[in-house]
Amino acid sequence: MLARAPGYRAVVDLDTRLTVLGSLNMDISVTVPALPGPGATVLGGGADFAPGGKGANQAVAAARLGGEAGLTVRMVGCVGDDDFGRALRAALTAEGIDDRAVRTVAGVPTGIAMITVDSVGENMITVAPGANREVGAADAAMAGQPGEAGPAPEAAAGVLVISAEIPVPAIRAALAPRVAGQSPSPVLTVLNLAPAPPEAADIVAAGPDWLVVNESEAGAVLGRPVSGLDAAARAAADLVAAGARHAVVTAGAAGAAYHGTPDDGDSKERSGTVAGFPVRAVDTVGAGDTFVGALAVALAAGIAPLDAVTAASAAGATAATRPGTQGGMPRPADIGAVTHYEWPVPAAGPAANS
Ligand code: ADP
Repeated sequence: MLARAPGYRAVVDLDTRLTVLGSLNMDISVTVPALPGPGATVLGGGADFAPGGKGANQAVAAARLGGEAGLTVRMVGCVGDDDFGRALRAALTAEGIDDRAVRTVAGVPTGIAMITVDSVGENMITVAPGANREVGAADAAMAGQPGEAGPAPEAAAGVLVISAEIPVPAIRAALAPRVAGQSPSPVLTVLNLAPAPPEAADIVAAGPDWLVVNESEAGAVLGRPVSGLDAAARAAADLVAAGARHAVVTAGAAGAAYHGTPDDGDSKERSGTVAGFPVRAVDTVGAGDTFVGALAVALAAGIAPLDAVTAASAAGATAATRPGTQGGMPRPADIGAVTHYEWPVPAAGPAANS
C-alpha cells in the first residue's frame, strides 16, 4: 500500500500505475497575419509540428510530475500506421511513458489537429480524429487492468484517467466495472469530459470516482451556463448529485471548485474552492490537461482531495506561464519556482522502498 512520509507529503508505491485512455494527435500549427474567412487563402509562416491530443497531453503531464516519484505512466489509445503515428509513440517513450498499449491501426491516418493562430493569439482549430475513432471496448478493458505487479492484494491498483476525445462506447466501457458495482473497483477512475459529448449527463450518471470539467463542459452536462468560481462550486455539487463521487470544476485564472463524498465511510459531503495561483499567463492551452495529469498523480500518491486539487491548480497555473502545450508542462521544480507551492509528491528515495 501507499507509504506516507511524516507530515503532509506522500510517497508513491512503486507498483502504482497511472493509465491514460484517450487521444493522440499530431498538432500542426501555422501563424498567419489574420485568420482566413470562408473561401479565402492566407499565407502564414512555417508549419510547427508538435505531439498533442488530450490523452497524450495528460499522460505527459503525469509522467513529468510522477516519474521522479516512481510512478509508471501508461498510454492506451490508437494511432495510424504512418510517420505521425510513429512520431507520437516516440514522443511518449521519450517522456518515459509506456506506449505498448497504444494500438497501431492499419488503413486509417493518425489523428491530426490543424491549428491556425493570428497575430493576437486568436485561433481556429480543425481536428481530424482518424485513428482515435478506432478506440473501443477492448482498449478500455485493457486500460482498466491493474498494474503488472498485480493482482497481489497488497499492490496499489492504480489510477485510470479517461479523457473524452475518443468514442463514447469506449468511455462507457472504461467506467463499466464501477457501474457493475465491482468492489473494490480495480482502479480509481478520473473522467475528464472534454469535450463534453451529447451523452455527457448519462456518462456522469455511470458514477466516475472523479469527474473533472471546465466551466463550459460543466454547463453542457448540467444544461445551464456555469461562469465564475461560485457558479463552479454549485456546479461541482450538482455533478456529485448527478453521479460523480468527486467533482472538480475548473474556472481558468479564477481557480477550481471541488465537491465530493469521502472514502472513509463518512457520508457527509465535503467541498471547497481553490483560488487560482496568481501568475503571468502567456499560453493557457494545455493548462487544463496539466491540471488533470497533476490531479491523477496526486490521487495516485494518496493525497487528500482538496490538497490534490490545490496541487493540480499549482501545476495548471505553472503550465499557463510557459509556451507550448506538452512543451509547457511543468516538472515539480518548475511549479515551486513559479508558484512557491511545493509539489507534494517527492522524488523516490530510499524511503519510498521502505
Ligand atoms: P481548460 O483549459 O480545460 O479550459 P481551465 O482554463 O479552467 O481549463 O484551466 C484549468 C486550471 O488551470 C484552472 O482551474 C487553474 O487552476 C489553472 N489555470 C488556467 N489558467 C490559469 C491562469 N491564467 N492563471 C492561473 N491558473 C490558471
